[in-house]
Amino acid sequence: MEIFRWLLSALLLLAASSAMALQAPDISTLRLEQINLWFEGATALDTQTSSPGYRLVYRNGEVLGAVFYSHQITPIPAYSGKPIATLMAIDTQARIVGLQIVQHEEPILVVGVKEEDLKRFTDQYIHLFALDKVRVDAANRPGYVGIDGISSATITAMVLNRSIMQSAKKVAQLLNWPSHIENFSVVPEKPPTEADRWKERLEPWLDRLPTVITITLALVLLLFILFFQDWLVRRPKVFNVLRTGYLLFTVVFIGYVFSAQLSIVNILAFMQTLAHGFTWDTLMLDPAAFLLWSFIATSILLWGRGVFCGWLCPFGAIQDLIHDLARKLKIPSFEFPSTIHQRLWAIKYFILIALVGISLDSFSTAATMAEVEPFKTVITLKFAREWGYVAYASSLLFIGIFNSKFFCKYLCALGAGLSILGRFRIFDWMRRRNECGKPCQACAALCQNGAIKPTGEIIDTECHFCLECQVAYWDDHVCPPLVEKRKRREKRAQARNRPAKVKIVESSTDS
Ligand code: SF4
Ligand code: SF4
Repeated sequence: MEIFRWLLSALLLLAASSAMALQAPDISTLRLEQINLWFEGATALDTQTSSPGYRLVYRNGEVLGAVFYSHQITPIPAYSGKPIATLMAIDTQARIVGLQIVQHEEPILVVGVKEEDLKRFTDQYIHLFALDKVRVDAANRPGYVGIDGISSATITAMVLNRSIMQSAKKVAQLLNWPSHIENFSVVPEKPPTEADRWKERLEPWLDRLPTVITITLALVLLLFILFFQDWLVRRPKVFNVLRTGYLLFTVVFIGYVFSAQLSIVNILAFMQTLAHGFTWDTLMLDPAAFLLWSFIATSILLWGRGVFCGWLCPFGAIQDLIHDLARKLKIPSFEFPSTIHQRLWAIKYFILIALVGISLDSFSTAATMAEVEPFKTVITLKFAREWGYVAYASSLLFIGIFNSKFFCKYLCALGAGLSILGRFRIFDWMRRRNECGKPCQACAALCQNGAIKPTGEIIDTECHFCLECQVAYWDDHVCPPLVEKRKRREKRAQARNRPAKVKIVESSTDS
């Protein structure tokens, strides 16, 4: 309980931490040397900053263009909850002539994206017009300029795109520079209405319709499994095929195809968003993550954290599949004694507390420390990174062969965070018998997460809802009270059948 009090205090501290944020760069302090590569022969910068935050660039009195920081013109919060500061330049034809990310707290840019990939992304804007409609990963849409996104950083790329293009357009309109463009109006556009914002939020969803449909169907199927769990677990063959198929889907589609592995960084980023002004816009940019988080929010209340960990987490599913295969190959398992196992659980809560604490001071440091999660290495970057990360992730998978879900049980800060939220669960859907734990230990021995107490109760915060104990609950070859009943039933049937057989034999002898 102490752990939960600590975490609550940490969360409250975070809410009051906005004042500790990094100082964002300001256009008034920009020096000519920082931008003269973009404007050949530039001799001066406006001494005054024009509202809402741009400065003109001169060559011997002639205006060459304007420079500005995107976060000062259109402060759109990114994945970290804070805007990305991009220094930009446009010429008098309203063409983008310079662009450089100068400050951000985006976790994925810190640890998951190479410098050259980021440069390749930002270089695509050079020579685009401020009024161009630019879409990330939408090359074939008529009327749009399609650019390539940043692999594994979808949300960040989309927010960057919005912030770059909206700020360029705003400055160009204020300066009346794109007047040569057909249908250009010098009057800045009216602020978007609620209907426009709505429309805008839907665009990424329409762009990713196949993803949205596939994930929605998968979640509906999972709901079906959960609501009809009693019916399914009584048919172990059907259930096992369904479960293995679902885990494979989770790894292949949720993990690798849709890149929707959730992470503790999502929770830290969400907390930052709450502290710096919540908006749905950034959350809705990634439909796959949005759908999964919405499902988790609901399922955690009904079933606890286990539904995500047991069915929807790609890294969890990989570990499950590896361990299942190892069991089929009769590779011996290794479990820690119960007292050690329960003490090791605490590690993941300490990691969570540490990450929340660090994020109070620096979100990007916390995101770097969150590399304790091997998700980025295994799922997002598909092992294509430095050997240290690969060795760490591979070791965890290797240990998982012998000790099921080792990482989940002892190290996963996301699992720890979800466990805490899962304490508000409303219903208990797991069946237990009076004999569970008193004296029967059959399910406890089966549970790969060690989530059943010696006294028979399921520890909700550790249960991954794999339903193995529920299959056992109905199996009259596994569950000892049912085995007893079955044996008694069989004996009675034998007893009933024996005289009948004798009679038949006798009568056949008579004849
Ligand atoms: S404990 Fe962590 S790694 Fe394991 S299934 Fe849950 S979220 Fe995934
Ligand atoms: S065996 Fe039962 S208690 Fe253990 S993780 Fe699976 S559902 Fe939860």
